[in-house]
Amino acid sequence: MVMIDVLVPKEIENALAQKGISADMCKKLVYEAEEKKAKLINKVTGENLAKKIMDNITLYVMYAPAAPGTHPVTAYVIKKVYSHKMRMKNLVYTVPEEVKDWWCAKDDVQTVRGQFDLEYMGIVRMAPTLTCPKCQESYIEEDIAAKPVAVAEMLFEKKRA
Ligand SMILES: [Zn+2]
Repeated sequence: MVMIDVLVPKEIENALAQKGISADMCKKLVYEAEEKKAKLINKVTGENLAKKIMDNITLYVMYAPAAPGTHPVTAYVIKKVYSHKMRMKNLVYTVPEEVKDWWCAKDDVQTVRGQFDLEYMGIVRMAPTLTCPKCQESYIEEDIAAKPVAVAEMLFEKKRA
């Protein structure tokens, strides 16, 4: 197996630190995603998206080849990290005609929009996902994790307080 280097820029390292995650953990996530092909690939931008359920959050890591267009890839650079606290519970339905630019690496099929039940502090709320129609693996996009899901998390935390 070719050893791939994973580059974690300083601003990403800072963003990870705020979530209590080390750069090494982030690199490990990328290695695991590559090994198991447990990732989505954006065939338009060449970016990859992997996720991992941690103790308190689900972490998403977006990464791309450090030198686009060269094969084989010898280094990836982390482009973005984001997370949500809500737990992914179950896929409610998919919208097969709403296909996305992201492909499931394992199945080599294009993802579609899914609707997923997320749970947090005992409350369930639905959110849109990128879902593989074959393995049903689902990913939440950054704009959804950053806005509607984050707002829901805050409301539930307030209710509990
Ligand atoms: Zn799949």
